[in-house]
Amino acid sequence: MDLTLRRKVKKAVSGSLAELYPHDLQLYVLPPTCSISLAEFEEFAMERLKAELKKNGLKLYAKLVQGSGTGQTEFELQMRKRDHISHFILRLAYCRSEELRRWLLAKELDLFRLRFHALSAEGVRLFLQGNKLDYDPIPAEEKSRLRDCLYESTYMLSSVQIETYEFYRVPFLDVLDLVRARKCFLSSGYAYIPSVDFISVLSSKFRDNLSHALVMTARQLPALEEDERLFLMLKGLHNTYTGDDYSINKNTTGVRPEELDSLSRKSFPLCMRQLHEHIRAHHHLKHGGRQQYGLFLKGIGVSLEDALRFWREEFTKLMDLDKFEKQYAYNIRHNYGKEGKRTNYTPYSCMKIIMGSVGPGDTHGCPFKHTDLPVLKQQLYNYNLPTTDIQAVADLVSHGHCQVACMKYFEVTHKVVPDSIVHPNQYFIQSQKALAGKEGFKMDTGLNVIGKLEYRRGIPHPYLCGVHEMSVYVSSFCCIKTYGASASSENSSLSSAPTQKIKMDDSDVWGDDFDVSALSTSAINAVNSHTEK
Ligand code: SF4
Repeated sequence: MDLTLRRKVKKAVSGSLAELYPHDLQLYVLPPTCSISLAEFEEFAMERLKAELKKNGLKLYAKLVQGSGTGQTEFELQMRKRDHISHFILRLAYCRSEELRRWLLAKELDLFRLRFHALSAEGVRLFLQGNKLDYDPIPAEEKSRLRDCLYESTYMLSSVQIETYEFYRVPFLDVLDLVRARKCFLSSGYAYIPSVDFISVLSSKFRDNLSHALVMTARQLPALEEDERLFLMLKGLHNTYTGDDYSINKNTTGVRPEELDSLSRKSFPLCMRQLHEHIRAHHHLKHGGRQQYGLFLKGIGVSLEDALRFWREEFTKLMDLDKFEKQYAYNIRHNYGKEGKRTNYTPYSCMKIIMGSVGPGDTHGCPFKHTDLPVLKQQLYNYNLPTTDIQAVADLVSHGHCQVACMKYFEVTHKVVPDSIVHPNQYFIQSQKALAGKEGFKMDTGLNVIGKLEYRRGIPHPYLCGVHEMSVYVSSFCCIKTYGASASSENSSLSSAPTQKIKMDDSDVWGDDFDVSALSTSAINAVNSHTEK
């Protein structure tokens, strides 16, 4: 009897580029087999990572392959190959923990959706055909028979759009998000969805496939880690921050130690506020805290001399000056590139802080990740956050959305919605801009506008009622945001205002790092152009 274990191994991709990559959009079912150099390996990974981390980066990356969807130029084929390889590299780098897997899943889903929306109708058809996804639009007679039902169940579509869009009949289990949001017509176990919502079906397939693949990849990691060069590169990749460089102090006026108490209350993210308060209360920080907070201070504009003065004044409340100079001053100068290798060290990004290890008694780390929930809630309560907002933050934390929780904290404390937060120093800059009343931030409740839409269509939507629905990452599952001239509470001013709509489905909202910059006016135009096609 043959006891050899037979694993089901997926065939790898091989063939000419035109055969391998007939379409811009890929489901990444099979891994690549071509040879690339280590330099290319790193370059491809960084390129994709930058796209996934930076504001609007996804849109830029999407443009790399934005075209008819099925073009066959050499450039398009090479881009698809790059896309394919870089996706699999990030799988290797981001499969090692639940947190990382969830992050990558959310980012890849965003990219997939963006690119799907960029496809032409022919591109969509060929994508479905190429991936053997047997979905056909319902015949004209059936659509005509169901016209009223389709109109009533798709409250965002006008009667003209009902006529022009193709409708698909799919098993309702494939579109649970649309069912949950009551956005489709259901009959005999099938959901009828317009072509604009077809992405829900594909997203759920994409999510399931990738989620499963990431778990499988994690199991293969030990074998891969025998190659030290790859191991080191992959291990460090998720800590690589590719956003703005905050080691260069762009604050020409600088920040004085005397200002830190006030700034920590107004403009520090919670991770830095708690470190500042700890050092003021206990006159000491452990190494991890000194590194995290010290580099942050450097990034916001505290000079080396001021940093030495700040730490010295605190530490010498518990120790003599000689001990401070011998044991701590060197490290501070080192962080500013004045000792040792003379490297100008970079302040820690959110990802580095969130993924870092925090032991008992440590005060560094991200409070939305490393602090026990009851303690965090108590802390927010002490900072006078309203109970409902504390609960909203707690809900996000319990779902593992640390950075989104941080954005909610920003929103509550500043009354403006920030861009997505990927770095504590970026938080600080956004806060300073918001407090200075600079442009780029907009808090828009839009409740009356929604009321108007509901009234016009006469279909109250269960999720579009309440005070918080425009805080998309808190309470809305489906969000229609209409921008009027002023979005004030005056119906009269709204009725004459030009309006735009953006639509977000629930997975956009609940993605790990939902990009709140999508709420900025420029992004609305971009999203609008996709959703209003
Ligand atoms: Fe600090 Fe980033 Fe955590 Fe916010 S999300 S508290 S900025 S580490």
